[in-house]
Amino acid sequence: MPLAAPESHPAHSGSSTRKALLQVALAWVALLLGMALYWALLHQSQLGQLANAEAQTRLRAAQAAHALALQTGTQFHKLDYLARHLGEHWLEPDSHGFAHAIAVARTALPDGALVQVAIADRDGQIVYSNLATEPPANGAPMRISIADREHFRAHLDGAPPRLFISQPVFGRISQQWTVQFSRPLHDSGDFCGVIVLSMSAHYLSAALRDIFPGSGDVAFVVRDDGAYLARSHLLAQVLGSAVPPSRPFVVDPAARSGFYEARASIDETERHYAWHRVADYPVVVSLGLDRERALGPVRSALQDGRQQSLIGSALLLLAAGAITWLWLVQVRQAAVLSTTSERLDLALRGGNLGTWDWDCVTNACRFNQRWADMLAYRDAPPPNLETWVRHVHPDDFPRVRALLQAHIDGAVDQYEAEYRMQRCDGSQIWVLDRGRAMQRRPDGSVLRMVGTLLDVSARVAETQLRRALLDQSAAAIAVVSRDRKVLEVNQRAREIFLRPGEDAAALDMRRLHLSDAHYGTMLQHYRSLYANGSVRFEYPLVDVHGSQRWFDLHAVLRDPDSPASEIVWTLVDISEKHHAEAALATERLRLTALIERFPGGVLMEDASGVVAMANQRLCELLDLPDTPETLVGLDHRAFSARLGGDSRSTWLQLSADGKGAEKRRSVEIRHSNGRELEIDWLTIERNGTALGHVWLLRDITERKQHEAHLATLAATDALTGLPNRRSFMAGLDAVIADSHHHRGRSSALLMLDIDHFKRVNDTYGHAIGDFVLQHVAQVIRHELRHHDSAGRLGGEEFAILLRGVDADGALALAERLRTTLAQTPAISNAGAIRVTTSIGLAMLDGDNAARLLRHADEALYEAKGQGRNRVCVWPL
Ligand code: GH3
Ligand code: MG
Ligand code: MG
Repeated sequence: MPLAAPESHPAHSGSSTRKALLQVALAWVALLLGMALYWALLHQSQLGQLANAEAQTRLRAAQAAHALALQTGTQFHKLDYLARHLGEHWLEPDSHGFAHAIAVARTALPDGALVQVAIADRDGQIVYSNLATEPPANGAPMRISIADREHFRAHLDGAPPRLFISQPVFGRISQQWTVQFSRPLHDSGDFCGVIVLSMSAHYLSAALRDIFPGSGDVAFVVRDDGAYLARSHLLAQVLGSAVPPSRPFVVDPAARSGFYEARASIDETERHYAWHRVADYPVVVSLGLDRERALGPVRSALQDGRQQSLIGSALLLLAAGAITWLWLVQVRQAAVLSTTSERLDLALRGGNLGTWDWDCVTNACRFNQRWADMLAYRDAPPPNLETWVRHVHPDDFPRVRALLQAHIDGAVDQYEAEYRMQRCDGSQIWVLDRGRAMQRRPDGSVLRMVGTLLDVSARVAETQLRRALLDQSAAAIAVVSRDRKVLEVNQRAREIFLRPGEDAAALDMRRLHLSDAHYGTMLQHYRSLYANGSVRFEYPLVDVHGSQRWFDLHAVLRDPDSPASEIVWTLVDISEKHHAEAALATERLRLTALIERFPGGVLMEDASGVVAMANQRLCELLDLPDTPETLVGLDHRAFSARLGGDSRSTWLQLSADGKGAEKRRSVEIRHSNGRELEIDWLTIERNGTALGHVWLLRDITERKQHEAHLATLAATDALTGLPNRRSFMAGLDAVIADSHHHRGRSSALLMLDIDHFKRVNDTYGHAIGDFVLQHVAQVIRHELRHHDSAGRLGGEEFAILLRGVDADGALALAERLRTTLAQTPAISNAGAIRVTTSIGLAMLDGDNAARLLRHADEALYEAKGQGRNRVCVWPL
């Protein structure tokens, strides 16, 4: 059971890593040591090979030098023999025999090898040379002497009678470099001269060059004293010179052969030299093998070997490095795995996780102690799947089994189920069960599954409590993920938006919106939400029945600090309010239209005295420069001030004057602009509650003027323009009533009748009579003071009220009027017509109008009686 009992501890992973690193270090030390040893051995081996090659070279040189020495000795023997043979022939008297011998000698040697055969006498004078054009007679001197030459002097000085080999000399006759091989001539035991064979130095060298054609290897022949006789290469540079005196064959005359190494000064080439003395002659043959050429291939092979070894070493190091790296990665992974495993172990312990390990083939299932504890086992639970099945709540089992099967079938990555389990003690817990197939067959069938079990009863209880609380809410509540997936809804939201049994998680949010375009507009609210952490707005959504409903939507981020936070939506159904508002708005529109069409001014204040509505006509009637809209919202006082102060806005106080009981009043006012206004004020109330007041203003100026005109017409005598009887009497009544309040201010009434008026009619006609009546009225009007008043009582009778006069004053006024009338004719078409009048006067004295009139009438009657054209005063 891998999840159940991991044994490692955190400290182990650290120490095992250190141990692994130490092992790596040791492996590297061993590798480097091995490589160092290998390279040391390689070096040693190469040195050995080089030494061996050098030894081989030396041996080869020594063998060659020896062979060359033998060959050279043979050649010298041949020359020795020729010299001795020719000398003997020279001494014979037969000169032909000598000539023949020379010819034979020339054929015995290659062409050009024998340059000259010369004979010198005992004084060194050349007596014969085969090169002489005309050889002198035998024994005659040729006037060429070699007495100073080494090869002559060696014999003259009594050297042993044997072949002498000279240094190369430039021949005086031959004009070329030659080596002189000379022998003494004795005649009867006495020295009589020397025979000299001049051998071409080039010939001698060519023989050597045949053996060593390349320039690297050289062969040379020197005398014991080191003087060069021949050299395979660069002969011209060495002729007449000698090898350095340090050469072993010069230093040690006793040594027969030997080796040395040297760098030739002529061509600066390093060589292995082997030398060998030529038997019987004081001559050394030396052979130099070019060290570079001899050892070059070996060195090159060794170099190749080193390079290959170097590449091999580098590859080995790289491979070792790669292996180390891979190994370290593995060690680290192992450490991480170990740590992960340890953490998992800790998590299992810390998380109080039960574990199970199910062998799907045998159905054996092992449970750890925590699992057993969770289900209240006293002893170990039976280790098989049945144990688990027995504890799963029967109501939950089909669902759990389906979830498990889904994972077994490979449909889901992991098995996870939350369900109830019945414990051994009969109680019940909620668990979160998770598991995963650890081994599968190639066909996918599961061999083994392991999993964990967690007691989540507390969380489930909390969730249920939270859900109960959520479901209590009258508002619909939904938790939505950032990608607009519904995670959780409460009962109210379920009722409004979900079909019975529908899964909230499967709800397509688009269904809630009126249209896709509507759905799109939500994006701006989401942006606002993310920017501010919350957002609130009113919005229509479609409920489960397809009806549109208005909601007050409030969204908050569950965790404002987390960019992936879920969103909690609270939806309050405000459809009714919305409908009411819509209806209100419609009504308001209607009302607005209505009052705009109303023929008068309308002002509406709400219960708190704020202007709620006004129309254009109101502004016109009140001469307000404002538009109705600017008045709306003003409170009572502000609106009153707008009207221009208290005097103008007294009508507004109607509501204040109402003393609560009054619901409706009507006033007529005369506005300062001259307009006559009729103002109706009424209270709007509903169920006894005042909702506000309305003032309706109508312009009644015209009507007022009409009425005034009619009144004037009713009170005026059409013919004379004076007040008629009714009007005059009304005025008289008023004055009498007033006189009761103002005692001391007396008034008088005159009754005036035209004398014999009938005659005027009769004489001039009725029209002229009317004209005379108008004339009399005109005179009366003219004569009256401004506070007096007159009226036509009927026919040709007039009444005059004089105010603020005493009896005398009244009489004087009456007399003056009578006189004026009498003296002022009416100028008519028919000429000037004079009329007189009789006047009765009565002083006002607390009387009523009728009695005063009667008194004045009585006085008038008296004036008529006394002859007319006079004034009589009552009492008579
Ligand atoms: P006296 O001096 O007694 O008053 O004589 P008199 O002619 O005035 O007498 P009386 O009062 O009887 O007559 C009045 C006349 O006035 C009668 C009538 O024809 C005339 N009269 C009344 N009303 C009018 C009117 O409106 N126009 C004209 N042209 N005549 C009128
Ligand atoms: Mg009359
Ligand atoms: Mg009259």
